[in-house]
Amino acid sequence: MDVVITSDRTMITDHHGKEFLGFMTTAPPIFLPEKIWMSIAAPKIKVNEIGEPCQAPYGLRKIEAALLDAGIDAAVIDPDHLSKHPEAKVVAIGHHDYFALGPPSSEWWVLTGKEPVNARSFRKFMESKEMEYFRRKGAKIVVGGPAAWQWLYKPELIERWGVTTVIDGEGERVIVDVVERILNGEEPPKLIQVGMDEVPSLDEIPLIKKPSVNGLVEISRGCPRGCRFCSVTLRPLRH
Ligand code: SF4
Repeated sequence: MDVVITSDRTMITDHHGKEFLGFMTTAPPIFLPEKIWMSIAAPKIKVNEIGEPCQAPYGLRKIEAALLDAGIDAAVIDPDHLSKHPEAKVVAIGHHDYFALGPPSSEWWVLTGKEPVNARSFRKFMESKEMEYFRRKGAKIVVGGPAAWQWLYKPELIERWGVTTVIDGEGERVIVDVVERILNGEEPPKLIQVGMDEVPSLDEIPLIKKPSVNGLVEISRGCPRGCRFCSVTLRPLRH
């Protein structure tokens, strides 16, 4: 396989089929050991023989679909099963809140003074022996998703964890180009910020090929209400 798409355990989980348990990953463990907190909020998910989780976050499924539609050998792989794909040349990572800087993680952090488990789990993942293996063998690490902006505040971690490219914005159009460049031996840009006129049109957004977490589906991008404080208004409305 050329591209493994993955993330840490707080993302690759079905939250026991109860989506709202996922909010526990935005807080530090409260009155419970971290192991038990994580087993409630983000249990391991069933995988097949090559380590594909039976459900995966919708955004990762979209990236997977865009790559598969372009004829690229790619799949979402559980973080505990990355070693089944040592030949991968690209590790594509997405996250809702890499460093617990978004709401509600940052609020929990301020209230409790403790780092939320999503940031702790992501750091553990990036420093895992599997990710170290990919860095050592020269695989390229591409990060994106709704929290991609957080990397701009962590330039030292881009260097320490060997991140090749940050894609900030809707990734379906640009991911294929980035991966093709890598597979052709070219160096992709360090930062891609997807502008308003570069987002995919409705017809260009691929249909996911495999199940999303708890069957969630996307019915629109952008929002017609236009609240001035909201980043969703920075996207053109498609539905
Ligand atoms: S806060 Fe954002 S998503 Fe919610 S209604 Fe306003 S513009 Fe739409």
